[in-house]
Amino acid sequence: MSSTHTNTHPAGTAADAAAADHKPSNFLRQIIEKDLDQGTYAQRRWAGTPGDAAHHAAGPLDPAKIRTRFPPEPNGYLHVGHAKSICLNFGLARDYGGVCHMRFDDTNPETEDTEYVNSILDAVQWLGFGWEANGQNHLFQASDYFDFMYRAAEYLIEAGHAYVDEQSPEDMRANRGDFGKPGVDSPFRTRTPAENLERFRQMAQGQHADGAMVLRAKIDMASPNINMRDPAIYRIRRATHHNTGDKWCIYPMYTFAHPIEDALEQITHSICTLEFEDQRPFYDWLMDRLAEGGLLAAPAPKQYEFARLNLTYVITSKRKLAALVNEGKVNGWDDPRMPTIVGLRRRGYTPAALQAFAERIGVTKSDSWIDYSTLEGCLREDLELKAHRGMAVLNPVKLVLTNWDEVFAPLGGAAYLDPCTLPALPHPPEGTEPPAARHFTIGKEVWIDREDFEEVPPKGYKRLFPGNKVRLKGGHVIECTGCTKDANGVITEVLATVVPDTKSGTPGADSVKVKAAITWVGVADGVSAEVRMYDRLFVDAQPDAGGKDFLESLNPNSLKVVTAIVEPSLANAQPDQKFQFERHGYFVADRVDHSAGKPVFNLAVGLKDSWGK
Ligand code: ATP
Ligand code: MG
Repeated sequence: MSSTHTNTHPAGTAADAAAADHKPSNFLRQIIEKDLDQGTYAQRRWAGTPGDAAHHAAGPLDPAKIRTRFPPEPNGYLHVGHAKSICLNFGLARDYGGVCHMRFDDTNPETEDTEYVNSILDAVQWLGFGWEANGQNHLFQASDYFDFMYRAAEYLIEAGHAYVDEQSPEDMRANRGDFGKPGVDSPFRTRTPAENLERFRQMAQGQHADGAMVLRAKIDMASPNINMRDPAIYRIRRATHHNTGDKWCIYPMYTFAHPIEDALEQITHSICTLEFEDQRPFYDWLMDRLAEGGLLAAPAPKQYEFARLNLTYVITSKRKLAALVNEGKVNGWDDPRMPTIVGLRRRGYTPAALQAFAERIGVTKSDSWIDYSTLEGCLREDLELKAHRGMAVLNPVKLVLTNWDEVFAPLGGAAYLDPCTLPALPHPPEGTEPPAARHFTIGKEVWIDREDFEEVPPKGYKRLFPGNKVRLKGGHVIECTGCTKDANGVITEVLATVVPDTKSGTPGADSVKVKAAITWVGVADGVSAEVRMYDRLFVDAQPDAGGKDFLESLNPNSLKVVTAIVEPSLANAQPDQKFQFERHGYFVADRVDHSAGKPVFNLAVGLKDSWGK
């Protein structure tokens, strides 16, 4: 690759340019770099809107070096697998001076709904991508191309490359053969173009019943690739389409529509998942036929396949996710346990974490499973630097400092509240202004976590037990003296004394050495909060592999709700704001239910990786 065809970087190859961005290479990057260096698409024209060969021929040279597209079907909410595809397609366009089209693949009238359209646009934008470029808006919908698709179908018929087949669906299936058996020609295969054209027009005019006949490409019934055995390209379906209404009663098949959509939009690299590999010969066949007829601009787009994302403990099928929602197994598409983008967002995931995840898992040509901990690690790394710290007590028990009145007698005794402060970020990123510090108070009574006291300490236990000293983080050193219990033996209060002159940040505070600091929240200024402790939704690492019923491996403990006490800075959180609850993990103020009067937090991810264990 030593040519200098590329316009962006005349001094080097596209690979040099990409390497300078420190992005790990992959097979798709190599293909694109080779195309850029060879100028494969350098002479392409772009008329500013999608269209046929004549339309683009009248336009200027395409300002986009490459064109990719993200083409979801608007039949559900996007999930983490789509996030991989979004980051890939938009990311490649961004990295190579190209444009990525946002295209709704809405050729199937029955399953689609405008309800999903906005949620999909939202998800893509939230992830950090857009479809405006070069002063143009690249938001398209495949149903706008129905007129062209119809014209392409008529062209194929006239050129002898397509015929109307009136076999019953059963006969058609039987005559297709299988892997070991070649197909059998349909008795309708030898009709003349004129006869076929007449029948096809009747189909479009609604003169035949749904399913009575289909239009098929005429290729090769003996092809070893079953997808080349005269695939159906148009069917009759009386259904109202959300965009075109009742204009059509025939609809193109996905395999016919998709290559045409790519070509009308001047896509260069059409990237899809591996299950479409066997469709590629038809993709190329169709592009060749329509180019021969002068309908589509050359060079045609090329299809490339990559391995879809499989994530342990997660299902990534819109249909199965819909089942979880419809059967009430979760509380909607945006339930924080859902792998949907709206669910991940509500769980506390950030666009940066998902982009880093897509980058880390890379793209390959062979299927594999990615461990869920990889996703969690990306979130933890992002929040580590950004999430403000705060103290929260998730399983509260009261701690009483029995000598408080005496020690603070000169300042007011029992009612005295000693002001404390801690930084919101212990290590603010270099060159940034540290955020305002947190302020809270300590008094005679504070909340601590039950797990931080043991009447009889297990070996190695360093926190509160009678006779032991610990620091209340950001506050004083205290010495445990015992506890009180109710009639059932349940601990009602932990008792301790405060060690004078040990408050954090005051001179001599460290004169008393302790082995542990525990988190706490003052009874006087602590705020009660609902905290939703989420765990994996499934107990099986591959819940739907091999035809397993994923509903059978639902984790009964995927959500536990606790009433916690949080410090004032946390109660003042904005919805969607992320925090590290010190010693507990990363939490997010729920973007739906949280308010200053009624704080609600979701566990986003623990502090350490606990998935592998
Ligand atoms: P589902 O089976 O969940 O409905 P789909 O593949 O039918 O998924 P589309 O809306 O057709 O969903 O997909 C839009 C794009 O997202 C496609 O290009 C598809 O290849 C990609 N995509 C979908 N699922 C994954 C996944 N698990 N990993 C990577 N890419 C994916
Ligand atoms: Mg699909």
